[in-house]
Amino acid sequence: MATNPQAMQNTPDVLNLIAGEWRKSGCADWIDVTDPATQDVIARAPNTTPDEMEQAISSAAEAFKTWKEVPVSERARMMFRYQALLKEHHDELGEILARETGKTFADAKGDVWRGIEVAEQACHAPALMLADSAENIAGGIDTRTITHPIGVCAGITPFNFPAMIPLWFFPLAIVTGNTFVLKPSEQDPMTPNRLAELFLEAGFPPDVLQVVHGGREQVDTLLTHPTIRAVSFVGSVPVAQHVYRTSTDHLKRCQAFAGAKNHMVILPDADKQQTINNLVGSAVGAAGQRCMANSVAVLVGETREWLPEIKAAMETVRPGRWDDEGAGYGAVINAGAAQRIRDLIGQGEKEGAKLELDGRECTVEGYPDGNWVGPTLFSGVKPGMTVYDEEIFGPVLCTVEAGSLDEAIAMINANPYGNGTSIFTASGAAARKYTHEIEVGQVGVNVPIPVPVPFFSFTGAKGSFYGDLHAYGKQSIRFFTETKTVISRWFDSGIPAGGPNLTINMK
Ligand code: NAD
Repeated sequence: MATNPQAMQNTPDVLNLIAGEWRKSGCADWIDVTDPATQDVIARAPNTTPDEMEQAISSAAEAFKTWKEVPVSERARMMFRYQALLKEHHDELGEILARETGKTFADAKGDVWRGIEVAEQACHAPALMLADSAENIAGGIDTRTITHPIGVCAGITPFNFPAMIPLWFFPLAIVTGNTFVLKPSEQDPMTPNRLAELFLEAGFPPDVLQVVHGGREQVDTLLTHPTIRAVSFVGSVPVAQHVYRTSTDHLKRCQAFAGAKNHMVILPDADKQQTINNLVGSAVGAAGQRCMANSVAVLVGETREWLPEIKAAMETVRPGRWDDEGAGYGAVINAGAAQRIRDLIGQGEKEGAKLELDGRECTVEGYPDGNWVGPTLFSGVKPGMTVYDEEIFGPVLCTVEAGSLDEAIAMINANPYGNGTSIFTASGAAARKYTHEIEVGQVGVNVPIPVPVPFFSFTGAKGSFYGDLHAYGKQSIRFFTETKTVISRWFDSGIPAGGPNLTINMK
């Protein structure tokens, strides 16, 4: 097992995992990692140098030559050990994650758990990689397909799920026989490093996973490097577009998961209290920094009269530091993000939305410097207003009104995003109509955050996803593998030898 000297020396410098060793970068410029509740600098992430990037990529390429030959059952056995280690260290990972993201401890553990579930799914690789075969497709000829790994894959991940999202990618890529270079978010790099330490402890060869830190420059190296065969990205829309365009322009396979604006449609026959509780949790949980948060409530018909109760429920939620058990959510990731959210709230007011609850002046006792934004509620929001059109990524709920389910569907289908949506209703017919007609990749029926478990795939759509094959589930196995089709015939099967065959055989 490789030991991370970072922990031993108690240095705040985040290390890279290159060629099986934890190495301190020789870069000149470092990126501060701050505690969102205090602004204390808790670590520094490197801007990994071009030389170090090259070492990581070539080490992954070298490792691929032998790793792809390891039987899939053996690779899966290592993954069984890894998922067990992740569970054993669940609390510890939750705390590291909570400290650097500001999430509450309970929510941080949820982030880790959703990643563990993907590692569990990766243990099924031997069955998931099985492919097709057919006998005697023509006289004496059999055909079979083989799934095999593609090479060195790269993952570029966002700040908001520093355990779950790296785990969406590297376990499935590696268990299928690839090697992997991970470039986590520079804002919370310590959780991914701990995931990588446990990965080595599980017994994987030390060079099949490389972890390099940094930002745009390091990402661009991965997108353009000829050795990288596939890129998995999660982050904001402009960066997702850049990643998809650049990596496909460099002839790579790419799956790029982007930003979102998710709607929860509320019909008058829905269970009022259940709906309001679920809506508020979805909109402000994790400070609204979830790509699947329902940040727009579509109040259909008389549900517009539920507004005072929605407001009252939001007023019961307060933010706090990660270890405050009474807090509903934590601080926003950084001061710039908090200011952007406050500015957008101001913009919403200016553009005519009614600010029912204003979280801009929120404070938390004992933490005067934290990135706090209180629960915020707008009514009278309309498409075309900035608070409707832009992803706010803060604890801000916009309510819009619709006269009918058809009107709600038309509004949502006109929205460029398509990550998630929910409908709350007691009517099976209305839910059936909604799930059939809505042009969004993931739909919850009385479920506020419809993130699929890992034996399905995460199927964001429209402007929330660029690519073909989605994360985890069967689609991920296809993303990380290539198909080879073998058509074979043996001449001892009694086929008479004739002269040269110069035509396409039709039997
Ligand atoms: P981000 O786009 O700022 O960063 C994502 C990654 O890209 C990071 O690793 C970052 O270092 C890198 N990066 C940043 N700017 C870059 C640039 N100009 N060129 C190349 N690389 C760059 O996103 P974020 O703020 O970390 O994460 C929040 C966003 O991610 C939100 O928009 C959210 O909706 C989205 N998200 C989407 C999903 C999904 O499944 N669709 C899931 C989680 C988060």
